[in-house]
Amino acid sequence: MLNVHGRDLSSVFPLTARATAAGMTIGGCDLAALARRFGTPLYLFDEITLRHQLRAFRDAFRAHYPDVLPLYAAKAYLGRALLRLVREEGYGLDVVSGGELAFARAVGYPPEMIYFHGNNKTPAELEEALAAGIGRVVVDNFVELETLDRLAGARGQRVAVVLRVSPGIDPHTHSKTTTGIVDSKFGFTIATGQASEALRQAATAPNLDLVGIHSHLGSPIFEIAPYLEALAVVLDFVAAHRDVPGFAFREISPGGGFAVQYLASTPAPTPSDYAAAIGPALCQGLEARRLGQPRLFIEPGRAIVGRAGVAIYTVGARKTIPGVRTYVSVDGGMADNIRPALYDARYEVAVVNRLAEPASEVITLAGKYCESGDILARDIALPPLQPGDLVALPVAGAYAPAMASNYNMALKPAIVLVRDGEAKLIRRRETYEDLLRFEVDD
Ligand SMILES: *Cc1c(COP(=O)(O)O)cnc(C)c1O
Repeated sequence: MLNVHGRDLSSVFPLTARATAAGMTIGGCDLAALARRFGTPLYLFDEITLRHQLRAFRDAFRAHYPDVLPLYAAKAYLGRALLRLVREEGYGLDVVSGGELAFARAVGYPPEMIYFHGNNKTPAELEEALAAGIGRVVVDNFVELETLDRLAGARGQRVAVVLRVSPGIDPHTHSKTTTGIVDSKFGFTIATGQASEALRQAATAPNLDLVGIHSHLGSPIFEIAPYLEALAVVLDFVAAHRDVPGFAFREISPGGGFAVQYLASTPAPTPSDYAAAIGPALCQGLEARRLGQPRLFIEPGRAIVGRAGVAIYTVGARKTIPGVRTYVSVDGGMADNIRPALYDARYEVAVVNRLAEPASEVITLAGKYCESGDILARDIALPPLQPGDLVALPVAGAYAPAMASNYNMALKPAIVLVRDGEAKLIRRRETYEDLLRFEVDD
């Protein structure tokens, strides 16, 4: 029980979150003390929760399928300290850009453990991938198929590729994060015959080794059925092409998109729930079609870092419009977390220094940036906020720091990793000097 204004928010805060007489601790660190030491807005990651999630996905899928390679989808949040944990827990890595690849390489991530995704990898990025000797390129379209084959040939290299197919399944999530339907920019569509054409082309390309099939439906996916429907479509597709010369079906992936619980009222399936459905369905589907036993790779991103991350803001201005609404603003907002503006994402909010007080007024928690859409939480019941109060936004680890911008010349926040009462600064707050760093004098 984590009593926050009379409600139990233990399901959305990190595993180590505790209410104390003075406020809240996470990883044994007092949030108010962290705010004083590092300033706000501040993001923290709880190492215990990160490791717990990494192990939960890995172990749950391995319990339900014999050959599993978990990959962490780096775009959800990429940092050196996190990559260390990801690697220690035996994960490979999904990257979606030359920048993510360069970052992973710079911190020594083993290239053969890296899978490269993306719907428009540039020739330069494909060259970088080949030069790095990465494990797999997940080929998304015909332009890439031809370019990669040509570039690999020019280097005298062969490259292992996985084909990304679009199974035409709607996972019932936000339209901006749906990827596996027919009308999507991602992947070769099965229904149109393009996936079939691509498979034949990849299988005969002189410099490509076609080793598997991948699909990714979108994110976050709160239902399990879409994964199973997509799996059936993909396995039928594989079965229809089993005898194509040059196609070695050694890997399959249902992608990522595993949901996390953002609100106390909207639970998400656990890693075990996903694994217990997907693993056996895959086994049975393979057996029914006599397709052998390919390696299963899974790609959780959000579900690894989401709940481990918490944003901490300081309360400032208040504006009451009688009979309409009260806005209370904090010292961050869409520059560090664009998800509410982009996806209508919703969050719980805790007033750290008033945890025991009842939620006695309804306000809208606004950011400080110059857009009316810069709202962090609309119509939320909280204790009456005063300037200087600290608010914590849980489940802020995925796609918030990762999508942070310098809009309004905002300084990207500091990030700390907490564990056993110690807070380690893993990314320093940007400075005004940083804002000028890329300007070139004329
Ligand atoms: C973004 C992405 C993921 C991760 O999605 P999450 O919702 O963060 O789990 C996995 N696979 C692919 C191909 C992606 O593009």
